[in-house]
Amino acid sequence: MSSSPARLVREFHRAFGLDARTTPTEVDPRLAAHRGELLAEEAAEVAEVAVEGPLDRLAHELADVVYVAYGTALVHGIDLDEVIAEIHRANMSKLGPDGTVARRADGKVLKGEHYRAPDVSAVLRRQGWIPGGAA
Ligand SMILES: [Mg+2]
Repeated sequence: MSSSPARLVREFHRAFGLDARTTPTEVDPRLAAHRGELLAEEAAEVAEVAVEGPLDRLAHELADVVYVAYGTALVHGIDLDEVIAEIHRANMSKLGPDGTVARRADGKVLKGEHYRAPDVSAVLRRQGWIPGGAA
C-alpha cells in the first residue's frame, strides 16, 4: 500500500472531517488564510531548528511542512504530486543534452538554453481548474 503523502493526508482529512476537494478550486478567503497561517507556522518551526537541530526535530518539522502543504493542496483540490512532477521536469531541463550543468560561481545551478519553465497553470487546467473561478 502506498504511503504517499497525498494518500496519508487525504486519510487524515477524511477522518477529521476537514475540507477535501477533488477539483482545483478557489476557496473561501478565511479558509485560504487559515491554511497559509498553518504552513507559515510549520515553516517557522523548521527555521528554528534548521541550524542547531537536533536532527530528529528537524526531520519532524520538515515532515510537518510537507504534511500541511499536502493538506493545503487537498483543501484547494490540487493534485500536488502532479505539480511536483512538473516542477521536477522543469528542474531537470536545466541539464544540457550533453549532461553539462551551468553553474554560477557560488555553485547555484543555472537555467541553461534547454530549460523549460514549469507550466503549473497547464497542470491545474488538466485537473479541471477553470482560471477566473467559474464555480
Ligand atoms: Mg511542527
